[in-house]
Amino acid sequence: MADNGSVTVWDALVGQDAVVSTLTSAAEAAALVATAGPLAAARAGMTHSWLFTGPAGSGLAEAARAFAAGLLCENTPPGCGQCPACHTVLSDTAADLRTVRPEGLSIGVRDVRALIRDAASAPSAGSWRILLIDDADRFTDSAANALLKALEEPAERAVFLLCAPSVDDVLPTIRSRCRSVALRLPTVEDVVAVLVREGADEELARVAAQASQGHVGQARRLAADPQARARRDAVLRLPSRLRRTGDCLAAAADLVEAATADAQAAGADRDEAETEALKTALGVGATSAGTRSASTRGGGRAGGGAGAKPRSIQVRGAAGALKELERAQKSRGRRTVLDSLDRALVDLAGLYRDVLVSQLRADVTLVHPDHADATAQLASAATPEQTLRRWEAVLATRQALADNPGLVPQLATESLALALRDA
Ligand SMILES: [Zn+2]
Repeated sequence: MADNGSVTVWDALVGQDAVVSTLTSAAEAAALVATAGPLAAARAGMTHSWLFTGPAGSGLAEAARAFAAGLLCENTPPGCGQCPACHTVLSDTAADLRTVRPEGLSIGVRDVRALIRDAASAPSAGSWRILLIDDADRFTDSAANALLKALEEPAERAVFLLCAPSVDDVLPTIRSRCRSVALRLPTVEDVVAVLVREGADEELARVAAQASQGHVGQARRLAADPQARARRDAVLRLPSRLRRTGDCLAAAADLVEAATADAQAAGADRDEAETEALKTALGVGATSAGTRSASTRGGGRAGGGAGAKPRSIQVRGAAGALKELERAQKSRGRRTVLDSLDRALVDLAGLYRDVLVSQLRADVTLVHPDHADATAQLASAATPEQTLRRWEAVLATRQALADNPGLVPQLATESLALALRDA
């Protein structure tokens, strides 16, 4: 993977030069903690609470993770991407990084209290204890209040990294305590440049970047994976299939199935890599010779680190950590399916936008230039008003799924398919 020399953790942040410069200088300031103490780091520009914002696909999680790696990195300049600290952060197995994701609809006060307890404990390997909160827009009121107290008087070595779609999604009291890092959606040219640098053919890179509308992860998948391209093609052919009610229901089922397959492809490799990394860190599985004591990934460590533990305790701790990882992966899997479905709906919305653009003969670049034939066919078979209603129906379904995580995807897509036919 590192075929082009040394890749730093900052290279994952596509088209975010301003953000990278903010984060690298903060990480350099933070490094002063080891030699000159926390006060010197703070004076040099290190901050305890950060709020990362940006639209889906801008690389919010990647940016927060890169910063965490930069804070724990063992080399200068920080964020080398090569040292053990960088590796454990990127594989989500760093002892000093605790990640919180909502399992259900919200992050409750119990999760936040556990997080705050963890923030107060001393770092075990690096200089900082990092608390990464993936969906900081989903706190319950009492959880937000508990967190606020921790942000007001942070423990000396604690760093909170909050992620949310926009600053408006976070309570004013919380965001006023945080230093803000705003990511933007990378341009098509940014994405093309990255894909080409990673070895993709330029023409393919351009189609993938254009079709993904700035979503780097999606562009990468489209450029690298023929099956991902086939699934996108199937999604874009869907509008021409909607004649009878049975067709609509079948199309809706296909849409959900494609999203599930897409999510599995995206998640399987990562899950496996994480599990392997955790097993290695725990000294179980392939490398069983080690006598390293068990430590779960961030938080929940069983007491101090005094000497070797009896083997039975080690194994039990390891099993617990693996089980916890499995649960986190399952929860992420559900969310990845919804993310993939959302990508499919974005593709569909882009298609109807293209149809409308061609009906109005507007001189605008198409989102899906490789599906110009389908676009022309749909344009000639409908009025602009119908196209607009269809476009709106797709956007409304996206919104409904985003606002209501309890909504069954199959039902949402079935009513969408019927609405598209009847528009
Ligand atoms: Zn490093």
